Amino acid sequence: MEFTYEGRRYPVIVERKRVKNINLHVRTDGSIYVSAAPHVPERVILDFLEKNAARIAPASDRVRQKRQKTVLTDGAEVPWLGKPLTIRYSPKPCKTVREGDVLTVFARTPEEAEYAFIQWRNAECVALFRELNKETYEAFRAAGYQVPYARIEIKDMSSRWGSCTAKTGRISMNIRLMQYPLGCIKGVFFHEYTHFLHQDHSAAFYAVLRRLYPAYDRYDALLKG
Ligand SMILES: [Zn+2]
Repeated sequence: MEFTYEGRRYPVIVERKRVKNINLHVRTDGSIYVSAAPHVPERVILDFLEKNAARIAPASDRVRQKRQKTVLTDGAEVPWLGKPLTIRYSPKPCKTVREGDVLTVFARTPEEAEYAFIQWRNAECVALFRELNKETYEAFRAAGYQVPYARIEIKDMSSRWGSCTAKTGRISMNIRLMQYPLGCIKGVFFHEYTHFLHQDHSAAFYAVLRRLYPAYDRYDALLKG
């Protein structure tokens, strides 16, 4: 199904299930999702969408714009550890190398630049997360907490920064964190490690977290923004 708003068409995913009302929301990929009971006619759903279009269409646009990837042309900027990093093409074969806020890649096209950037980003991420894992583990042990040395899995996730499976001693970390300041990434490490002690977000959880990482709230606000 789709509906039109100000001349633009928006695809809609309709799920039929036992719900009382027609429910409507914009998903993280910008698609519009509707749930309605099996007996509700399509015409009624469309009316409902049209009534809510002024709210729902701009929300969908915003999400989709945000998701649109930066095209890595020569001189393009990408966010890197909280600061802009400028991509520079090297016409001659070279290793991807960062000097200050410039990243030099061997590329002639945005596709080649993206390939080089992703290779470099992944390696940087593995090295940084390994270091922060050790640092966080040691901070907990030094404070007297019995936590395991976590096995880190790096994932590309759209809806969470990290997760902790206390039973298996595993922590998943989102690679997209590499765009944010180091303090934010540390905050997620401390957050997930605290879950080894408390599997909830109780007052006890935050007491440990804020004691071991006093800057937590400041950096967490940045990630939420
Ligand atoms: Zn949590």
